[in-house]
Amino acid sequence: MRKKIVAGNWKLNNTLEEGLKLASEITNMVTDELRDEVTVVLGTPYIHLSAVGKLTENVEKLHVAAQDCSTHESGAYTGEISVSMIQSTGASYVIIGHSERREYHNETNEQLATKVELALKADLTPIFCCGESLNIRESGKHERFVSAQITESLFHLTEEQMSKVVIAYEPIWAIGTGVTASSDQAQEMHKALRAHIASKFGNTIADEASILYGGSCKPTNANELFSQPDIDGGLIGGASLKSRDFMDIINSF
Ligand code: PEP
Repeated sequence: MRKKIVAGNWKLNNTLEEGLKLASEITNMVTDELRDEVTVVLGTPYIHLSAVGKLTENVEKLHVAAQDCSTHESGAYTGEISVSMIQSTGASYVIIGHSERREYHNETNEQLATKVELALKADLTPIFCCGESLNIRESGKHERFVSAQITESLFHLTEEQMSKVVIAYEPIWAIGTGVTASSDQAQEMHKALRAHIASKFGNTIADEASILYGGSCKPTNANELFSQPDIDGGLIGGASLKSRDFMDIINSF
């Protein structure tokens, strides 16, 4: 059965105290209200990982994610955080290739391929982000572009490795803009990506792959998006910073 996942991406928000307050509200809501078989992931800044991990450790459906990891395993790389460090905090997921990291830190598909491999080696579940800019969407080459991101960063994996990867399709023009992809646009891309995965790894792995949508997802549009046959949940930015909104999105399935 394909996993339903709602993952929050806090980005550069929340002091440790604010993050713990938010995580504690979400923990209580998930404990009291979670109605469906949904895996919930909190993508926090690095400094929150350990404390949020402790707070949520007894809630089976709640997991913690880092928002990035280094391409190096250890060594003289000041300021970087390795997959084994992330794993040692109790986090079990890592977001890789978010468009903000691709844009502001020039992350390439090749570097992301290394990050995905390191994450899997450290037993972390990668949430691999892909998505096109508005220019590419308007040129009509969006499917080809996003498929190439997947080919270049994921097609070197074994079938076993690929079966552990979560994909997040996030059209850049919809991130933080208030403009959401229509459910038809999102479904069309998710279906195409699943077919692309099937072309390399076969139908079983493609059918089982969780493909999340991200980009201005909120309580008012989550249900329509999550009702699409190839949309298995969401990666949520802004709305994950408010516990009530985040929980309403989780309960939109
Ligand atoms: C994101 O940054 O991953 C994201 C989806 O942001 P937002 O929900 O704010 O558009």
